[in-house]
Amino acid sequence: MTLRYQIVPVTAFQQNCSVIWCDETRHAAIVDPGGDIQRIMAVVNEHQLEVKQLLLTHGHMDHVGGTPDLAAQLQVPVIGPHKDDAFWLQALPGQGDMFGFPRVEAFDPDQWLEDGDTVTIGNQTLAVYHTPGHTPGHVIFFNEESQTAWVGDVLFKGAIGRTDFPKGNFEQLIAAIKGKLWPLGNDVIFIPGHGERSTFGRERVSNPFVADEMPLY
Ligand SMILES: [Zn+2]
Ligand SMILES: [Zn+2]
Repeated sequence: MTLRYQIVPVTAFQQNCSVIWCDETRHAAIVDPGGDIQRIMAVVNEHQLEVKQLLLTHGHMDHVGGTPDLAAQLQVPVIGPHKDDAFWLQALPGQGDMFGFPRVEAFDPDQWLEDGDTVTIGNQTLAVYHTPGHTPGHVIFFNEESQTAWVGDVLFKGAIGRTDFPKGNFEQLIAAIKGKLWPLGNDVIFIPGHGERSTFGRERVSNPFVADEMPLY
């Protein structure tokens, strides 16, 4: 297995930024650099990685706040989320006030992502799925070889993403989890945007929001 990753919790929201790399080429991607970029770079330097791109699951401040500074520092493109989250990225200065974060200027990524796209990290591939509901332009990343998924704020261990933000949609979120995530397989390990990892199979049994069937007692 050549795909490796290290989780770096960032910001006051303890958002799970991940440094993902191909162990054969040491090419890397950084998923959701929400802030604390010096801590992210410590991981990059420790493993002597060559970062090629920044990947964004969705446009919330705790996931993207460090992106403009990190992209400028590393001179790499910003890829994702889906263009339906453009309004969140344009609202970044206001999000800072809403979440109590330092100000981040609005930006557009170098490339929006669509359902069915792929992202390459060295000899490894991430499949992109569009999973609206928490935000309308949310995407997740799936590496088949390692059976690992980065799902942002779609699904958590024992919970699901909030749908009370502008353009959030509870039915869409449930449909995305059951229609896009579950078919990837019960053994898939997922890294959520916050909290501990789990597997899709475990959530299908125990997650009160999306379990296959609830006991009748
Ligand atoms: Zn979010
Ligand atoms: Zn979040």
